[in-house]
Amino acid sequence: HTDEDFVNTADTDYSRQVLRKKAQQALAKVKDSLGKTYLPLINGEYVQTDVIIDSLNPSKSSQVVGQIGLISVEQAEQALNAAKEAFTGWKRTPATERARILRKAGDLMEERRHELCAWICLEVGKILQQADAEVSEAIDFCRYYADEMERLDKGYNYDVAGETNRYHYQPRGIALVISPWNFPFAIATGMTVAALVTGNCTLLKPAETSTVIAAKIAEILVDAGIPKGVFQLVPGKGSKVGAYMVNHPDVHLIAFTGSREVGCRIYADAAILQPGQKHLKRVIAEMGGKNAIIVDESADLDQAVAGAVFSAFGYSGQKCSAASRIIVLDPVYDAFLERFVDATKSLNVGPTDEPSTQVGPVIDATAQKRILEYIETAKQESTLALQMEAVDNGFYVGPTIFGDVLPNHTIAQEEIFGPVVAVMRVKNFDEALEVANGTDYALTGGLYSRSPEHIEQAQKEFEVGNLYINRTITGAIVARQPFGGFKLSGVGSKAGGPDYLLQFLEPRHISENI
Ligand code: NAP
Repeated sequence: HTDEDFVNTADTDYSRQVLRKKAQQALAKVKDSLGKTYLPLINGEYVQTDVIIDSLNPSKSSQVVGQIGLISVEQAEQALNAAKEAFTGWKRTPATERARILRKAGDLMEERRHELCAWICLEVGKILQQADAEVSEAIDFCRYYADEMERLDKGYNYDVAGETNRYHYQPRGIALVISPWNFPFAIATGMTVAALVTGNCTLLKPAETSTVIAAKIAEILVDAGIPKGVFQLVPGKGSKVGAYMVNHPDVHLIAFTGSREVGCRIYADAAILQPGQKHLKRVIAEMGGKNAIIVDESADLDQAVAGAVFSAFGYSGQKCSAASRIIVLDPVYDAFLERFVDATKSLNVGPTDEPSTQVGPVIDATAQKRILEYIETAKQESTLALQMEAVDNGFYVGPTIFGDVLPNHTIAQEEIFGPVVAVMRVKNFDEALEVANGTDYALTGGLYSRSPEHIEQAQKEFEVGNLYINRTITGAIVARQPFGGFKLSGVGSKAGGPDYLLQFLEPRHISENI
């Protein structure tokens, strides 16, 4: 097996009218089924809850996409017990059978692609084209991790005359997956199926604002034949029920993607040995970024401007990989800034179910308020170059650009997670790299340059998990661009890459004298 054998699933070609029509039909159908109730899945049953909350459409905040049942601490305990009980059977299930369930789930996602895109569009405010890429990524995760598990399951033989030496992998036990809302389908699916295919009984705690989509993942896994107790959907308040499960002595593994604050907290909490706990917890934490694109004096500015606009404002800057700093060398700074502002002005901001929309809302009222506060702070520190109008019937923030931003300014250091970009002027390429590396994060980065020396220097010195040269810095593809960062962006687990599943497994070795 090599990664070259892996074929990524194709995105929808929306230039074909027949597919555009199918997408619109799915959207209309999903709009007709808004407002239903989605309950947790515990030990194979959808269970009632005391607390029910609304999940809103960020594009039109008066619209309830679904009602979400949130579990209590007692229900978390029940789910953990069910997982413990199911583990004996699941760890003995052959890897090929576990892989078969993942492949089936991938096929079901392909069948339901347009419908799933519609849910993503309406629950988290993503335009269809980007929702579609997310569905592709989730399908790829299912198929790639299925292949990967079959590869790892072969183990290694180090036999010598008179002695067999076998190295193999076993599951860790109970996995808790805590997912973010920004890639509600792909990231939640990726972490969940990785934990499942490696033989762990898995509880998915999705971000509150994207629980309807998580309920769709649960439906698909059930339809694919996942046994009861092996996979459970446990939506609940992160700070309460999430934290309770993180601290639980029966949890072996936590796969988290989300903010730095919560990730660091989980990392610390999981390190504490609880009464009765006889193992160390493994934490896979993928966190934020403060991603920069460097534009040097040799760059093709047409390419750089288009790439910067897409990387910065795609999904309203709410991708962990999004560009939030553009570092431009002095000779081209003024020309770049002017063209970047002009190109951004041409973006259509609006509801994500409109085919002409390019930039939608942000996720919720809290995010909107936080981003607007950052904009006010930045107005005190640097120069406002553009603030576009925001639509007023949802959680919108117009794309905003600041110029003359200095490395110590707030918007040059903190992850804003919205459509706000800091453009920074530097004297030379060494300074560009110094500024680029001068944050706590190391997730993605980009370079627009036609200078072989600069490209080589960036390859060596630009401290990021994913470096993109002369292209956009978002949209990593499974088995092609394994994704994830280091420093305070994460533990370096690289989703969609050859090392990912190892973290969900424990290696063992057996020697036999024969
Ligand atoms: P978040 O606020 O950290 O939430 C992530 C998840 O953690 C949610 O399910 C949340 O539940 C839960 N949670 C909150 N407090 C918890 C606690 N004390 N114990 C256990 N769980 C807890 O992040 P987000 O706003 O959803 O996502 C945006 C962030 O994710 C950004 O920083 C972005 O850069 C990062 N991200 C990183 C990557 C990557 O690959 N590196 C990918 C995507 C996103 P509730 O919803 O109930 O609070």
